[in-house]
Amino acid sequence: MSLKLYNTITRKKEEFIPSEKNIVRIYVCGPTVYNYISIGNARPIIVFNMVRNYLKFLGYKVIFVQNITDIEDKIINKANAEGVDFKVITDRYIKAFLEDINTLEISSIDEMPLATKMIDEIIDIINRIIKNGYGYVVNGNVYFDVSKYKDYGKLSGQKIDEMKDTDENDFEKQDKVDFALWKEAKPGEPSWESPWGKGRPGWHIECSAMSIKHLGFGFDIHGGGLDLIFPHHENEIAQSEAAFPDKGNFVKYWMHNGMIEVKDRKMSKSDGLKEDWILKNLLKKYSPNIIKFYMLSTHYRSPLEFSIEKLGESKKAFEKIINTIRNITFIINNDENKKVSNITYEIKNKLEANKTKLKSFLTTVKEDFISAMNDDFNSAEAIGILFEAIKNLNGIMQSSDFVADNEIVSYLKSFYEEITDLYNIFGINLNKELKEDLMILQTENINLDVEEIENLIKERNEARKNKDFKKSDEIRNKLLNKGILLEDRKEGTIWKVQK
Ligand SMILES: [Zn+2]
Repeated sequence: MSLKLYNTITRKKEEFIPSEKNIVRIYVCGPTVYNYISIGNARPIIVFNMVRNYLKFLGYKVIFVQNITDIEDKIINKANAEGVDFKVITDRYIKAFLEDINTLEISSIDEMPLATKMIDEIIDIINRIIKNGYGYVVNGNVYFDVSKYKDYGKLSGQKIDEMKDTDENDFEKQDKVDFALWKEAKPGEPSWESPWGKGRPGWHIECSAMSIKHLGFGFDIHGGGLDLIFPHHENEIAQSEAAFPDKGNFVKYWMHNGMIEVKDRKMSKSDGLKEDWILKNLLKKYSPNIIKFYMLSTHYRSPLEFSIEKLGESKKAFEKIINTIRNITFIINNDENKKVSNITYEIKNKLEANKTKLKSFLTTVKEDFISAMNDDFNSAEAIGILFEAIKNLNGIMQSSDFVADNEIVSYLKSFYEEITDLYNIFGINLNKELKEDLMILQTENINLDVEEIENLIKERNEARKNKDFKKSDEIRNKLLNKGILLEDRKEGTIWKVQK
C-alpha cells in the first residue's frame, strides 16, 4: 500500500506522488516572532517533523523550508509598547524560538528564511502581479485585486460574496476581500525602498516569495495550521498563481493540522498566553519525548484537547513503554539470561511456546505500523500498534513461564532495534530516555559510577542467594542513600536514579 494523504484543496485522500521522483519539497508556515511560542504553535512543528521523518523512512530525500515572519503589525505594536526598535523584539523571540526547537529536538528544518531578508524577491513577485493585471497601487500601498483572479476561494471552499473582510482597518482597497501585498510605511515604522515608495511587505506575500525561491513553483507539500487556510493560504495561492499564470498549481498537496483546544476554545497567541501554554515552560517539566508522544497520539487533523492532566496521562503511558524497553535491554544485555543451562523437557517446551508467541506479533508490528502511517499519517493508530506490541511483549516477559535462550534474545534485539527506528519517526528518542538515568548521575554528581552500582547489585544478589538478608538490605540501603533505587524483577534486578 502506498502513502495516501488528505489534500485540503481537493477535500479527499489522494495517493502521494511527488513532482520529482524520490524528492519531496515541503514548506510550512513558521512563527511571527513577537512572543514565546505556545503549545499550539508547537503542534505544526511536531506534526510536520513527523511527516518529514516518515517520508525519509519511505526512502525520499526531503527538502523542508519553514519561514520566520520578522516584520508584521504585531511585532511593530510590541516594539512600540516597549519603546524599542523592532529588531530588539525579533532578535529576542527568534533566539527563544531556536532554543525551543533545539530543546524539542526537531531535526526537520533545512532552511529557515526571514521575511526581512527576502525583500528583493518579494518586490519582484509583486511587480509580476501588477504587470499581469492582478494588483493595483493606492498611495504607496499595493493591493491584490481578488475580482481578477477567478479561482479565489478554491482552497477554503468559500464564495467571494460570503467572505469576511480580514483587514477592516484598510480603507484604501477597492473591495473588502482585496488584501495588501505592500504597505506604505507610517512615520517611525521600519521600512524598505520599493517602486511604490518606502514600505514593508504584507504578511501573505512573504510565504509565496520564500517557498518559490527555495522550492520552486509547484512544490509538493504546503503545511500549516487549519487557521491559516483563510485568508493566509488562500491568498498565497492567488498571489503565486497570478505572478506565474502559466505554471499551473502553486502547490500539489495542502496539509493542515487541527487546532489545540482549551475547553472548547481555540488556542492562539491573541488569547494571551497562560504560563502553562508556553512551550518553554512545559519543556522544563516534560521531556520533548513526552510532549511529542502526547501530541502525536491524536491524528494531526483532529482537534487536540490540551490540559496538564492530559499531558500527565501521556507521561504515565510513556513511562510504561520505557519500563518495558528497560526490561528488554536488561534481558539483551544480561549474559546470565541469555542461556538457560540444563535444558529440561519442560524448559524446552516453555522456550518453544515463548518463541511462537513472540513470532506471532513481532513479525506484523512494522507492517501494521506502515499501513497506519500510509493512511494519511495516522500516528494515533501507529502509536496504538506499538503500544499494544509492547504491552504484549511485557506480558510474555513477566509471565512465570518466561525463559530466554539465544534465539529469544535475538528476537528481542531485533524488536528493540525496530521499534527504536519506528519511534524515531515521531521524533521520539527511546535510547536517550533510557540513558537519562546515567545523565542524572553525571549532572548531579552522584558519587557512584555505573560499574560500582552494578558490582554492588551483584554482591547483593549473591547475599540473597545465600539467604544473607541482613547484608542484602545493607547494600540496598547504601544505594538508596546515594539516590539509587533497586527494583527486583523476574528477569533480574534493575536500578534507577531517584528523581
Ligand atoms: Zn505562510
